[in-house]
Amino acid sequence: MSSETKEVVSEEVLAGPSEARGMLIIVASPSGGGKGTLIRHVLKTVPNVGYSVSFTTRPARDGETNGQDYFFVSEETFREMITRGEFLEWARVHAHLYGTGRAQVEKELKERRDIILEIDVQGAESVRKLVPGAVAVFILPPSFEILRDRLVARGSEHPSDLSLRLKNARSEVERFREFDYVIINDDAERAGAQLASVVYAERARRERQQQLAEEILGSFPL
Ligand code: 5GP
Repeated sequence: MSSETKEVVSEEVLAGPSEARGMLIIVASPSGGGKGTLIRHVLKTVPNVGYSVSFTTRPARDGETNGQDYFFVSEETFREMITRGEFLEWARVHAHLYGTGRAQVEKELKERRDIILEIDVQGAESVRKLVPGAVAVFILPPSFEILRDRLVARGSEHPSDLSLRLKNARSEVERFREFDYVIINDDAERAGAQLASVVYAERARRERQQQLAEEILGSFPL
């Protein structure tokens, strides 16, 4: 984790689960793990969930929209943003820089919306250290062969980038142990429903319901 990210974390983000703010849901997987599809399922079916649009120095792929999939920025702009403390976390992933903008996350949490962070294992580690109560979900492909086939079929990567992603996959998958939930993406519909269930279950945690439950209790005569 960079020292910059440590310095800039704010009260909004640091608020624990008992503070009735929205929660941070980290979703990580190796490249080609299919997390994008599962996240889209949650955004479509679960109310009151936002998506953190990351910043990246990676060039846009065909079909990607600036401001929707990512904010595509130059390395110079990205470095300036680091200096200004505008990232909650950032990391070099494969060959590019990626970072979670602090402002959007703070806004969503303040508005009591949950927010999904689609980030890599390094980002997941940084955010979990910074934010108590962040929920971390790892999306696991059923096997290396299936991951490789999916990545090749996607055809979105330059061959050298593709082999780098496959090379890094094992060290990413090894870190599933650091996560609260593991979802095996064998079937997108089933796995998407499971991710939605995690969000619903986490919302019902006693720590998150404490304040409301106390108020309800208060309405009962002694
Ligand atoms: P891709 O280039 O395939 O869109 O993303 C490559 C990797 O970077 C994925 O594992 C993705 O989750 C991760 N990533 C995307 N945005 C961020 C971010 O803001 N921070 C971090 N640490 N990783 C990110």
